Amino acid sequence: MHLLNENDKTFLLHSIREIEDFPKPGIKFKDITTLLGDTNAFNLLMDHLASRYENQKIDYIAGIESRGFIFGAALAARLRTRFVPIRKPGKLPYTTISEKYSLEYGVDEVSIHIDAFSGVAHPRVLLIDDLIATGGTATAAVKLITKAGATCVEACFVMNLTFLQGDLDIKKMTSVYSVLEV
Ligand code: AMP
Repeated sequence: MHLLNENDKTFLLHSIREIEDFPKPGIKFKDITTLLGDTNAFNLLMDHLASRYENQKIDYIAGIESRGFIFGAALAARLRTRFVPIRKPGKLPYTTISEKYSLEYGVDEVSIHIDAFSGVAHPRVLLIDDLIATGGTATAAVKLITKAGATCVEACFVMNLTFLQGDLDIKKMTSVYSVLEV
């Protein structure tokens, strides 16, 4: 397995730019475009993820809109497996199923095509997103994968903002792996 040592993790962490007060005051936005623009950082990350999942019989990688699409699709291509998008409502063209989740103010929703996992019996799915904050989005996504008839074998994040403890609810449903913890 291509494990990351502390130097690798520091290198990856520093490849992600932090933008203060975006998209609103008080938020420190983790900008992964700088990681994607660094071939060494992007390949180090993808080599690590590919080696972690290559022998885990993953049938589908489900990526959460929109930065989960980037890492999820890149990993699916490396593992020669299938990619499924989990999207905001009203974006997917065919029949969908949805899962609502609470925000600080109001609700949001994620949706998936009803036949997203129909190509395989007893589908095993890896969920991927760039970052877990409160965990609301990813928890809803794991529930959606289950609703769609599949098993989520792990939820994987490039970064976990651990002080928010967003992974606690997801850990009741599936295994959680975060490459970087801040
Ligand atoms: P949450 O549902 O609170 O875990 O939020 C996770 C989603 O919001 C992910 O799709 C992230 O890309 C995005 N997100 C939340 N907080 C940040 C942040 N500080 N920097 C970048 N993206 C964030």
